[in-house]
Amino acid sequence: MQQDALVQSPATTQKGDTQPVLRLDNVRKSFGSTQVLRGISFDVKQHEVVALLGPSGSGKSTLMKCVNLLEQVDDGQIWLGSTDITDPRANQDRIRARIGVVFQQFNLFPHMSVLKNVTLAAIKVHHWSKDRAEARALELLDRIGMRAKAKAYPDQLSGGQQQRVAIARALMTDPELLLLDEITSALDPMLVGEVLNMVAELKSQGTTILMATHEMSFAHDAADRVVLMRNGIIAENGTPREVMDESDDPQTREFFAHFR
Ligand code: ADP
Ligand code: MG
Repeated sequence: MQQDALVQSPATTQKGDTQPVLRLDNVRKSFGSTQVLRGISFDVKQHEVVALLGPSGSGKSTLMKCVNLLEQVDDGQIWLGSTDITDPRANQDRIRARIGVVFQQFNLFPHMSVLKNVTLAAIKVHHWSKDRAEARALELLDRIGMRAKAKAYPDQLSGGQQQRVAIARALMTDPELLLLDEITSALDPMLVGEVLNMVAELKSQGTTILMATHEMSFAHDAADRVVLMRNGIIAENGTPREVMDESDDPQTREFFAHFR
């Protein structure tokens, strides 16, 4: 793929160590006088599943939106591979094609079929031909056992099926990074499992994933790393065991105690 890198990534990522898929370096973001992100730095490496945890309001969605260019950072850098996506000269559509995104809710357009939903951005934003987009969409729907629903409308699907279709759509352009922002939070508890199973399946295929979630047992068992946000900073960054079971920090311990 053609790079839109205008500046090379810092030398620390070169030679021997594979370059991370995503790198946040001292990212800051405020809304008015509220400092939501107060110097966030961490990496997501290739094939890693990183769970972004933290209380509501700790800045997880804001961080995700900065990565997806829905919000502009005030300060700091975000690198996608060797592209500084916070550089105002970066090509936003091309960057978005390299990142798949699924939110908590309202992912599918209710008046469009599953196939139309899945192909829309590829055709309209990324200028794929209809044939190419439909072939790719059907392949993805097939893989998740939803090909028979290609002509169905979202309200004919369960919430879990809708989120799986939304994930399929996010994978259309074969993104380097998948951002999942509380994708099971709005679901009936009965339907959470099928969506998390799909995330686990993607992990086993090597998909690089950053997911904000409150599903603590999934984060514990499926994530390679856990990043805990608190008051706009990274309070913890380590393996699930280090962060969720073995941290000495009283606030960290208290946070996870709520979920036991
Ligand atoms: P989380 O996803 O961890 O629950 P958010 O990133 O949604 O946290 O929110 C972090 C803080 O930023 C909250 O205090 C929220 O009210 C505030 N916030 C988020 N988006 C905006 C916005 N567009 N304008 C003003 N405040 C916002
Ligand atoms: Mg959120």
